[in-house]
Amino acid sequence: MHQPALEALPRERLDALQLERLRRTLAWACVNPAYAQHVGPAAAGDLRTTADWGRLPFLTKDDLRGAYPFALACAPPAAFRRVQMSSGTTGNPIVNPYTQGDIAQWAEVMARCYVAAGARAGDVVQITPSFGLFTGGFGFHYGAERLRLQIVPIGAGRTSLQLTLMRDLGATILAAIATYPLRLIEVAREEGFDLSSLHLRVAMLGSEMWSDDLRAVIERELGLTAFDIIGMTETGGPGLGIECPARAGIHLWEDHYFCEVVDPISGAPRPDGTEGELVLSTLTRQGLPLIRYRTHDLTRVVSRAVCDCGRTHLRLDRFRGRTDDMVIYRGVNFYPRQIESLILSQPGAGPEYQIVLERAPGGSDRLVLCIEAQPGFAAHGAPALRERIKTALALTPEITVLAAGALPRAPGKAVRVVDRRAG
Ligand code: ZN
Repeated sequence: MHQPALEALPRERLDALQLERLRRTLAWACVNPAYAQHVGPAAAGDLRTTADWGRLPFLTKDDLRGAYPFALACAPPAAFRRVQMSSGTTGNPIVNPYTQGDIAQWAEVMARCYVAAGARAGDVVQITPSFGLFTGGFGFHYGAERLRLQIVPIGAGRTSLQLTLMRDLGATILAAIATYPLRLIEVAREEGFDLSSLHLRVAMLGSEMWSDDLRAVIERELGLTAFDIIGMTETGGPGLGIECPARAGIHLWEDHYFCEVVDPISGAPRPDGTEGELVLSTLTRQGLPLIRYRTHDLTRVVSRAVCDCGRTHLRLDRFRGRTDDMVIYRGVNFYPRQIESLILSQPGAGPEYQIVLERAPGGSDRLVLCIEAQPGFAAHGAPALRERIKTALALTPEITVLAAGALPRAPGKAVRVVDRRAG
Protein backbone atom coordinates (compact mmCIF):
# COMPACT_ATOMS: atom_id res chain seq x y z
CA MET A 1 0.00 0.00 0.00
CA HIS A 2 1.08 3.55 -0.64
CA GLN A 3 -0.36 4.83 2.67
CA PRO A 4 -1.04 1.77 4.85
CA ALA A 5 -2.09 3.84 7.87
CA LEU A 6 -4.88 5.44 5.83
CA GLU A 7 -5.75 2.66 3.40
CA ALA A 8 -6.18 0.14 6.22
CA LEU A 9 -7.70 2.56 8.72
CA PRO A 10 -10.11 0.62 10.97
CA ARG A 11 -13.75 1.09 10.04
CA GLU A 12 -14.81 3.06 13.15
CA ARG A 13 -12.01 5.55 12.65
CA LEU A 14 -12.79 5.82 8.95
CA ASP A 15 -16.45 6.55 9.77
CA ALA A 16 -15.46 9.20 12.30
CA LEU A 17 -13.04 10.78 9.83
CA GLN A 18 -15.75 10.88 7.17
CA LEU A 19 -18.22 12.57 9.50
CA GLU A 20 -15.70 15.22 10.45
CA ARG A 21 -14.82 15.84 6.80
CA LEU A 22 -18.45 15.94 5.68
CA ARG A 23 -19.06 18.72 8.22
CA ARG A 24 -16.00 20.55 7.01
CA THR A 25 -16.97 20.17 3.34
CA LEU A 26 -20.46 21.51 4.02
CA ALA A 27 -19.08 24.51 5.85
CA TRP A 28 -16.51 25.12 3.11
CA ALA A 29 -19.10 24.90 0.33
CA CYS A 30 -21.56 27.21 2.10
CA VAL A 31 -19.05 30.04 2.19
CA ASN A 32 -20.07 30.48 -1.45
CA PRO A 33 -23.57 32.05 -1.26
CA ALA A 34 -24.67 30.30 -4.48
CA TYR A 35 -23.68 26.93 -3.04
CA ALA A 36 -25.36 27.77 0.28
CA GLN A 37 -28.52 28.65 -1.58
CA HIS A 38 -28.39 25.38 -3.48
CA VAL A 39 -28.01 23.38 -0.27
CA GLY A 40 -30.79 25.36 1.38
CA PRO A 41 -32.04 25.25 4.97
CA ALA A 42 -31.11 21.57 5.38
CA ALA A 43 -27.51 22.70 5.82
CA ALA A 44 -28.35 24.34 9.14
CA GLY A 45 -29.26 21.07 10.88
CA ASP A 46 -26.82 19.16 13.03
CA LEU A 47 -24.85 16.45 11.25
CA ARG A 48 -24.74 13.78 13.96
CA THR A 49 -24.14 10.71 11.79
CA THR A 50 -23.26 10.12 8.16
CA ALA A 51 -26.90 9.07 7.64
CA ASP A 52 -27.94 12.70 8.30
CA TRP A 53 -26.11 13.59 5.07
CA GLY A 54 -29.12 12.17 3.20
CA ARG A 55 -31.16 15.24 4.22
CA LEU A 56 -29.17 17.43 1.89
CA PRO A 57 -30.37 17.95 -1.69
CA PHE A 58 -28.70 16.23 -4.61
CA LEU A 59 -26.34 18.05 -6.91
CA THR A 60 -26.91 17.25 -10.59
CA LYS A 61 -24.98 17.52 -13.82
CA ASP A 62 -27.39 20.26 -14.86
CA ASP A 63 -26.58 22.19 -11.67
CA LEU A 64 -22.88 22.05 -12.57
CA ARG A 65 -23.46 22.96 -16.20
CA GLY A 66 -25.67 25.82 -15.09
CA ALA A 67 -22.88 27.03 -12.79
CA TYR A 68 -20.50 27.48 -15.74
CA PRO A 69 -17.80 28.46 -15.30
CA PHE A 70 -17.21 29.16 -11.60
CA ALA A 71 -20.57 29.87 -9.90
CA LEU A 72 -20.24 26.90 -7.52
CA ALA A 73 -16.47 27.11 -7.14
CA CYS A 74 -15.38 27.47 -3.53
CA ALA A 75 -11.93 28.96 -3.46
CA PRO A 76 -10.92 32.47 -4.51
CA PRO A 77 -9.99 32.53 -8.23
CA ALA A 78 -6.45 33.53 -7.28
CA ALA A 79 -6.09 30.11 -5.64
CA PHE A 80 -6.96 28.19 -8.82
CA ARG A 81 -3.98 26.52 -10.44
CA ARG A 82 -5.65 24.54 -13.20
CA VAL A 83 -8.99 23.87 -14.81
CA GLN A 84 -10.04 20.51 -16.14
CA MET A 85 -13.36 20.04 -17.83
CA SER A 86 -15.65 17.46 -19.27
CA SER A 87 -16.99 18.03 -22.72
CA GLY A 88 -20.67 17.41 -22.89
CA THR A 89 -22.26 16.89 -26.26
CA THR A 90 -24.80 19.56 -25.37
CA GLY A 91 -24.71 22.68 -23.24
CA ASN A 92 -21.90 24.09 -21.16
CA PRO A 93 -18.96 21.95 -20.13
CA ILE A 94 -18.54 21.10 -16.45
CA VAL A 95 -15.51 23.04 -15.24
CA ASN A 96 -13.51 21.86 -12.25
CA PRO A 97 -11.01 24.39 -10.90
CA TYR A 98 -8.15 22.81 -8.95
CA THR A 99 -6.33 24.48 -6.12
CA GLN A 100 -2.78 23.51 -5.21
CA GLY A 101 -4.30 21.30 -2.53
CA ASP A 102 -6.56 19.60 -5.10
CA ILE A 103 -3.59 18.77 -7.31
CA ALA A 104 -1.78 17.27 -4.31
CA GLN A 105 -4.91 15.30 -3.40
CA TRP A 106 -5.07 14.00 -6.98
CA ALA A 107 -1.46 12.87 -6.86
CA GLU A 108 -2.07 11.10 -3.55
CA VAL A 109 -5.10 9.08 -4.63
CA MET A 110 -3.50 8.25 -7.98
CA ALA A 111 -0.32 7.06 -6.26
CA ARG A 112 -2.47 4.74 -4.15
CA CYS A 113 -4.10 3.43 -7.32
CA TYR A 114 -0.76 2.67 -8.95
CA VAL A 115 0.43 0.76 -5.89
CA ALA A 116 -2.88 -1.14 -5.64
CA ALA A 117 -2.34 -2.22 -9.26
CA GLY A 118 1.12 -3.50 -8.40
CA ALA A 119 3.38 -0.58 -9.39
CA ARG A 120 6.88 -0.78 -7.94
CA ALA A 121 10.20 1.02 -8.13
CA GLY A 122 11.66 0.88 -11.61
CA ASP A 123 8.34 0.74 -13.43
CA VAL A 124 7.97 2.65 -16.69
CA VAL A 125 4.50 4.11 -17.25
CA GLN A 126 3.21 4.87 -20.71
CA ILE A 127 0.38 7.38 -20.39
CA THR A 128 -1.90 7.13 -23.41
CA PRO A 129 -4.93 9.27 -22.45
CA SER A 130 -4.70 12.85 -23.65
CA PHE A 131 -3.07 15.67 -21.71
CA GLY A 132 -5.39 18.62 -21.86
CA LEU A 133 -8.77 19.54 -20.51
CA PHE A 134 -9.63 15.84 -20.17
CA THR A 135 -8.42 14.60 -16.77
CA GLY A 136 -6.86 11.31 -17.89
CA GLY A 137 -3.33 12.27 -18.86
CA PHE A 138 -2.52 14.56 -15.93
CA GLY A 139 -4.01 12.24 -13.32
CA PHE A 140 -1.80 9.34 -14.35
CA HIS A 141 1.12 11.73 -14.59
CA TYR A 142 0.80 13.11 -11.06
CA GLY A 143 0.42 9.70 -9.47
CA ALA A 144 3.43 8.28 -11.27
CA GLU A 145 5.47 11.34 -10.41
CA ARG A 146 4.57 11.01 -6.72
CA LEU A 147 5.93 7.43 -6.84
CA ARG A 148 9.01 8.50 -8.81
CA LEU A 149 8.24 6.12 -11.64
CA GLN A 150 9.57 6.75 -15.11
CA ILE A 151 6.89 8.42 -17.24
CA VAL A 152 6.39 8.30 -20.99
CA PRO A 153 3.81 11.09 -21.41
CA ILE A 154 2.92 10.38 -25.02
CA GLY A 155 -0.79 11.19 -24.71
CA ALA A 156 -3.49 10.05 -27.09
CA GLY A 157 -3.18 8.71 -30.63
CA ARG A 158 -0.20 7.74 -32.81
CA THR A 159 -0.79 4.08 -32.06
CA SER A 160 2.06 2.84 -34.20
CA LEU A 161 4.52 5.08 -32.35
CA GLN A 162 2.97 4.05 -29.04
CA LEU A 163 3.85 0.41 -29.76
CA THR A 164 7.40 1.21 -30.82
CA LEU A 165 8.08 3.35 -27.74
CA MET A 166 6.41 0.85 -25.47
CA ARG A 167 8.82 -1.78 -26.67
CA ASP A 168 11.96 0.33 -26.97
CA LEU A 169 11.56 2.20 -23.66
CA GLY A 170 10.47 -0.93 -21.82
CA ALA A 171 7.06 0.26 -20.60
CA THR A 172 5.76 -1.99 -17.82
CA ILE A 173 2.53 -0.12 -17.00
CA LEU A 174 -0.04 0.97 -19.54
CA ALA A 175 -2.44 3.75 -18.54
CA ALA A 176 -5.34 4.01 -20.97
CA ILE A 177 -8.99 4.54 -21.76
CA ALA A 178 -10.52 1.08 -21.46
CA THR A 179 -10.95 0.34 -25.18
CA TYR A 180 -7.58 1.74 -26.27
CA PRO A 181 -5.77 -1.59 -25.80
CA LEU A 182 -8.01 -2.96 -28.56
CA ARG A 183 -6.58 -0.33 -30.90
CA LEU A 184 -3.04 -1.29 -29.86
CA ILE A 185 -3.77 -4.96 -30.55
CA GLU A 186 -5.37 -4.15 -33.89
CA VAL A 187 -2.56 -1.93 -35.13
CA ALA A 188 0.02 -4.49 -34.01
CA ARG A 189 -1.79 -7.08 -36.09
CA GLU A 190 -2.01 -4.81 -39.15
CA GLU A 191 1.64 -3.88 -39.00
CA GLY A 192 3.05 -7.25 -38.04
CA PHE A 193 4.25 -5.86 -34.71
CA ASP A 194 5.22 -8.62 -32.29
CA LEU A 195 3.25 -8.02 -29.09
CA SER A 196 5.41 -10.52 -27.24
CA SER A 197 8.29 -8.03 -27.59
CA LEU A 198 6.53 -5.76 -25.05
CA HIS A 199 7.30 -5.78 -21.33
CA LEU A 200 3.90 -4.67 -20.07
CA ARG A 201 2.86 -6.17 -16.74
CA VAL A 202 -0.04 -3.98 -15.64
CA ALA A 203 -2.77 -1.96 -17.35
CA MET A 204 -4.81 0.66 -15.53
CA LEU A 205 -7.93 1.17 -17.60
CA GLY A 206 -10.87 3.44 -17.08
CA SER A 207 -13.15 6.18 -18.36
CA GLU A 208 -15.47 3.75 -20.15
CA MET A 209 -17.65 0.79 -19.21
CA TRP A 210 -15.84 -2.43 -20.04
CA SER A 211 -16.86 -5.97 -19.38
CA ASP A 212 -14.94 -8.82 -17.76
CA ASP A 213 -14.98 -10.50 -21.17
CA LEU A 214 -13.20 -7.53 -22.72
CA ARG A 215 -10.72 -7.65 -19.86
CA ALA A 216 -9.97 -11.29 -20.69
CA VAL A 217 -9.22 -10.36 -24.33
CA ILE A 218 -6.89 -7.51 -23.33
CA GLU A 219 -5.05 -9.55 -20.70
CA ARG A 220 -4.54 -12.48 -23.05
CA GLU A 221 -3.35 -10.45 -26.03
CA LEU A 222 -1.07 -8.08 -24.13
CA GLY A 223 0.12 -10.53 -21.47
CA LEU A 224 -0.69 -8.29 -18.49
CA THR A 225 -3.10 -7.84 -15.62
CA ALA A 226 -5.71 -5.13 -16.16
CA PHE A 227 -7.22 -3.07 -13.34
CA ASP A 228 -10.40 -1.02 -13.49
CA ILE A 229 -9.77 2.53 -12.28
CA ILE A 230 -12.65 4.95 -11.75
CA GLY A 231 -13.06 8.70 -11.52
CA MET A 232 -14.60 11.59 -13.39
CA THR A 233 -13.90 15.26 -14.00
CA GLU A 234 -16.35 16.26 -11.28
CA THR A 235 -14.57 14.20 -8.58
CA GLY A 236 -11.17 15.46 -9.70
CA GLY A 237 -10.38 12.91 -12.41
CA PRO A 238 -9.20 9.30 -12.27
CA GLY A 239 -8.21 8.13 -8.80
CA LEU A 240 -11.61 7.89 -7.12
CA GLY A 241 -10.88 4.20 -6.69
CA ILE A 242 -9.38 1.09 -8.25
CA GLU A 243 -9.42 -2.67 -8.06
CA CYS A 244 -6.77 -4.40 -5.97
CA PRO A 245 -5.15 -7.77 -6.67
CA ALA A 246 -8.00 -9.52 -4.83
CA ARG A 247 -10.24 -8.48 -7.76
CA ALA A 248 -13.20 -8.38 -5.42
CA GLY A 249 -14.53 -4.95 -6.31
CA ILE A 250 -13.23 -1.42 -6.68
CA HIS A 251 -11.90 0.19 -3.51
CA LEU A 252 -13.27 3.71 -3.16
CA TRP A 253 -10.88 5.96 -1.19
CA GLU A 254 -13.23 6.71 1.65
CA ASP A 255 -11.06 9.25 3.43
CA HIS A 256 -11.42 11.43 0.31
CA TYR A 257 -14.90 10.49 -0.95
CA PHE A 258 -18.21 9.58 0.62
CA CYS A 259 -20.55 7.44 -1.43
CA GLU A 260 -24.22 6.56 -1.40
CA VAL A 261 -26.13 4.26 -3.74
CA VAL A 262 -29.68 5.41 -4.48
CA ASP A 263 -32.70 4.45 -6.52
CA PRO A 264 -32.17 6.27 -9.86
CA ILE A 265 -35.83 7.30 -10.02
CA SER A 266 -36.86 8.10 -6.44
CA GLY A 267 -33.45 8.95 -5.00
CA ALA A 268 -34.14 6.74 -1.97
CA PRO A 269 -31.13 4.95 -0.48
CA ARG A 270 -30.47 1.41 -1.64
CA PRO A 271 -29.11 -1.18 0.78
CA ASP A 272 -25.61 -2.60 0.31
CA GLY A 273 -25.53 -5.29 -2.34
CA THR A 274 -28.37 -3.70 -4.32
CA GLU A 275 -27.68 -1.88 -7.56
CA GLY A 276 -28.47 1.80 -7.92
CA GLU A 277 -27.02 5.13 -8.94
CA LEU A 278 -23.76 6.18 -7.34
CA VAL A 279 -23.96 9.48 -5.47
CA LEU A 280 -20.65 11.03 -4.46
CA SER A 281 -19.53 13.69 -2.05
CA THR A 282 -15.95 14.88 -1.89
CA LEU A 283 -14.30 15.15 1.53
CA THR A 284 -11.06 16.93 0.70
CA ARG A 285 -11.59 18.83 -2.55
CA GLN A 286 -11.45 22.61 -2.38
CA GLY A 287 -12.08 24.12 -5.82
CA LEU A 288 -15.31 22.30 -6.54
CA PRO A 289 -16.50 20.33 -3.51
CA LEU A 290 -19.32 17.95 -4.35
CA ILE A 291 -22.26 17.46 -2.04
CA ARG A 292 -24.39 14.44 -3.01
CA TYR A 293 -23.51 14.50 -6.69
CA ARG A 294 -25.62 12.27 -8.94
CA THR A 295 -23.05 10.51 -11.14
CA HIS A 296 -25.49 8.52 -13.32
CA ASP A 297 -23.19 5.50 -12.86
CA LEU A 298 -24.86 2.25 -11.86
CA THR A 299 -23.14 0.09 -9.29
CA ARG A 300 -23.61 -1.44 -5.83
CA VAL A 301 -21.64 -1.66 -2.63
CA VAL A 302 -20.07 -5.12 -2.74
CA SER A 303 -18.63 -5.08 0.77
CA ARG A 304 -17.56 -2.87 3.65
CA ALA A 305 -15.58 -5.71 5.23
CA VAL A 306 -11.79 -5.75 5.30
CA CYS A 307 -10.51 -6.96 1.91
CA ASP A 308 -8.04 -9.82 1.42
CA CYS A 309 -5.52 -7.14 0.44
CA GLY A 310 -5.84 -5.58 3.92
CA ARG A 311 -7.54 -2.38 2.80
CA THR A 312 -10.59 -1.33 4.77
CA HIS A 313 -12.11 1.05 2.23
CA LEU A 314 -15.42 -0.19 0.86
CA ARG A 315 -15.63 -1.94 -2.47
CA LEU A 316 -18.00 -1.05 -5.30
CA ASP A 317 -18.97 -3.35 -8.10
CA ARG A 318 -17.55 -2.56 -11.52
CA PHE A 319 -19.88 -0.03 -13.14
CA ARG A 320 -22.56 -1.83 -15.09
CA GLY A 321 -23.78 1.13 -17.08
CA ARG A 322 -25.00 4.67 -16.79
CA THR A 323 -28.54 5.73 -16.15
CA ASP A 324 -28.21 7.86 -19.28
CA ASP A 325 -26.78 5.21 -21.60
CA MET A 326 -29.39 2.64 -20.81
CA VAL A 327 -31.03 1.82 -24.13
CA ILE A 328 -34.77 1.35 -24.25
CA TYR A 329 -35.91 -0.54 -27.31
CA ARG A 330 -39.51 -1.65 -27.70
CA GLY A 331 -39.97 -1.58 -23.95
CA VAL A 332 -36.81 -3.61 -23.18
CA ASN A 333 -34.04 -1.96 -21.16
CA PHE A 334 -30.42 -2.96 -21.68
CA TYR A 335 -26.86 -1.63 -21.40
CA PRO A 336 -24.23 -1.77 -24.14
CA ARG A 337 -21.92 -3.71 -21.83
CA GLN A 338 -24.41 -6.60 -21.71
CA ILE A 339 -24.29 -6.82 -25.52
CA GLU A 340 -20.49 -6.62 -25.41
CA SER A 341 -20.26 -9.64 -23.11
CA LEU A 342 -22.50 -11.69 -25.38
CA ILE A 343 -20.50 -10.77 -28.51
CA LEU A 344 -17.22 -11.68 -26.87
CA SER A 345 -18.53 -15.03 -25.72
CA GLN A 346 -19.26 -15.96 -29.35
CA PRO A 347 -16.17 -17.43 -31.07
CA GLY A 348 -15.10 -15.56 -34.17
CA ALA A 349 -16.64 -12.21 -33.24
CA GLY A 350 -14.30 -9.31 -32.54
CA PRO A 351 -14.48 -6.84 -29.68
CA GLU A 352 -15.60 -3.86 -31.78
CA TYR A 353 -19.32 -3.32 -32.15
CA GLN A 354 -21.96 -0.69 -32.63
CA ILE A 355 -25.63 -0.74 -31.70
CA VAL A 356 -27.69 1.21 -34.23
CA LEU A 357 -31.27 2.17 -33.49
CA GLU A 358 -33.39 3.35 -36.37
CA ARG A 359 -36.96 4.27 -37.05
CA ALA A 360 -38.23 2.59 -40.21
CA PRO A 361 -40.42 4.64 -42.59
CA GLY A 362 -43.48 2.76 -41.35
CA GLY A 363 -42.80 3.99 -37.83
CA SER A 364 -41.54 0.77 -36.25
CA ASP A 365 -38.08 0.68 -34.68
CA ARG A 366 -35.14 -1.39 -35.83
CA LEU A 367 -32.23 -2.58 -33.74
CA VAL A 368 -29.15 -3.36 -35.79
CA LEU A 369 -26.05 -4.77 -34.20
CA CYS A 370 -22.96 -4.16 -36.32
CA ILE A 371 -20.02 -6.37 -35.41
CA GLU A 372 -16.68 -7.22 -36.87
CA ALA A 373 -16.02 -10.92 -37.30
CA GLN A 374 -13.94 -13.51 -39.07
CA PRO A 375 -14.97 -14.65 -42.57
CA GLY A 376 -17.78 -17.18 -42.42
CA PHE A 377 -19.23 -15.79 -39.19
CA ALA A 378 -22.39 -14.55 -40.89
CA ALA A 379 -23.50 -18.09 -41.78
CA HIS A 380 -23.19 -19.76 -38.38
CA GLY A 381 -21.94 -17.39 -35.71
CA ALA A 382 -24.43 -14.62 -36.34
CA PRO A 383 -27.58 -16.78 -35.92
CA ALA A 384 -26.08 -18.29 -32.74
CA LEU A 385 -25.28 -14.83 -31.36
CA ARG A 386 -28.77 -13.62 -32.18
CA GLU A 387 -30.21 -16.56 -30.28
CA ARG A 388 -28.04 -15.80 -27.24
CA ILE A 389 -29.08 -12.16 -27.22
CA LYS A 390 -32.70 -13.20 -27.50
CA THR A 391 -32.36 -15.60 -24.57
CA ALA A 392 -30.41 -13.21 -22.35
CA LEU A 393 -32.06 -9.88 -23.10
CA ALA A 394 -35.30 -10.66 -24.95
CA LEU A 395 -34.03 -8.68 -27.93
CA THR A 396 -33.88 -9.84 -31.54
CA PRO A 397 -31.44 -7.54 -33.33
CA GLU A 398 -30.60 -7.68 -36.99
CA ILE A 399 -26.93 -8.54 -37.12
CA THR A 400 -24.68 -6.96 -39.71
CA VAL A 401 -21.35 -8.71 -39.99
CA LEU A 402 -18.46 -6.55 -41.16
CA ALA A 403 -14.83 -7.29 -41.94
CA ALA A 404 -12.22 -6.51 -39.29
CA GLY A 405 -11.49 -2.78 -39.21
CA ALA A 406 -14.73 -1.74 -40.92
CA LEU A 407 -16.33 0.07 -37.98
CA PRO A 408 -15.23 3.66 -37.34
CA ARG A 409 -12.68 4.07 -34.53
CA ALA A 410 -13.44 7.05 -32.30
CA PRO A 411 -10.38 9.09 -31.29
CA GLY A 412 -11.41 9.06 -27.61
CA LYS A 413 -14.10 7.01 -26.00
CA ALA A 414 -15.68 4.32 -28.16
CA VAL A 415 -19.10 5.10 -29.65
CA ARG A 416 -21.19 2.03 -28.92
CA VAL A 417 -24.70 3.32 -29.51
CA VAL A 418 -25.97 5.30 -32.49
CA ASP A 419 -29.58 6.27 -31.94
CA ARG A 420 -31.24 7.62 -35.06
CA ARG A 421 -34.78 7.24 -33.79
CA ALA A 422 -35.36 10.83 -32.77
CA GLY A 423 -36.53 13.40 -35.27
ZN1 ZN B 1 -8.57 -5.17 -1.79
